Amino acid sequence: MDAIATPDIAGIVADIAAEMRLSSERGQVASYIPPLAAVSPDKFGIAVILADGSAHVAGDADEAFSIQSISKVFALTLALGAVGDQLWQRVGREPSGSAFNSIVQLESEQGIPRNPFINAGAIVVCDMLLGRSAPAEAIAQMVRFVRQISSDDQASIGIDETVALAEQDTGFRNMALANYMRAFGNIRAPVERVLGVYFHFCALAMTCRELALAGRYLMNGGRVDGHSMITPSRARRINALMMSCGHYDNSGDFAFRVGLPGKSGVGGGILCVAPGVASIAVWSPGLNASGNSQLGTLALERLVQRTGWSVFEPRG
Ligand code: GLU
Repeated sequence: MDAIATPDIAGIVADIAAEMRLSSERGQVASYIPPLAAVSPDKFGIAVILADGSAHVAGDADEAFSIQSISKVFALTLALGAVGDQLWQRVGREPSGSAFNSIVQLESEQGIPRNPFINAGAIVVCDMLLGRSAPAEAIAQMVRFVRQISSDDQASIGIDETVALAEQDTGFRNMALANYMRAFGNIRAPVERVLGVYFHFCALAMTCRELALAGRYLMNGGRVDGHSMITPSRARRINALMMSCGHYDNSGDFAFRVGLPGKSGVGGGILCVAPGVASIAVWSPGLNASGNSQLGTLALERLVQRTGWSVFEPRG
């Protein structure tokens, strides 16, 4: 592990932030809701937490942003805890090759979403988490979980209610997905309740530092600060899904360029895991054509070029 962690991470992180600050190709900030459209495209943050617990951050790493679909990783983790491998009877494990909010595959595949990281899959996951509990309980459980895995003793992580409301006001496509899956029997709770949970998960606000801390259980075979959150095999499988499905129809290109399990969100964040080595979060709100952070992806590409952390490179 020392051989892998030897690079001067502090220097590399500072270099990456300096390069990103100067970049003029920043992509387009998400515009479907006002609170996201209002975020400055000049923001860039990076946080790297190494396996030894040391943190290396630069840029706007301590500014909270909307993690959006990155929450799908945490929702999947909670749902696997609640229902176990039965989850896979209602959600697939294949890359979709389609946009994050696509409805086309649902018809030919009888309402079973391709994977838990596209909107349809995450909505089914929310339905499972809802079970018999009220939406407020499912949302509170998520906030508790994320605070716990981030060691957020100050309880600074929470839901941005303005974002949650805006998601609700504009979420017609998500409503269509949920209703369509309900017609196939793959949504069981009332659609409004399931979507209430889904929209609140999208509206979680976190900093890069908090997000990188939250990813430690995926770096460490399910363990955080000596406590087991999930089994090592479950952590391995979530990482596999992040690699194959974490960037929508751009997942292949992300694996090609970065070669690490990662999950993006339209807020411009990406959570990335180098198993056994580091948990990394980047944030830059400008998105590429597939809805993934333009500079965030470039920053991760630079990081693996300089560290050799890609899972496709020989170790040691
Ligand atoms: N709130 C977005 C939606 O449901 C999340 C999409 C994303 O982050 O990729 O449409």
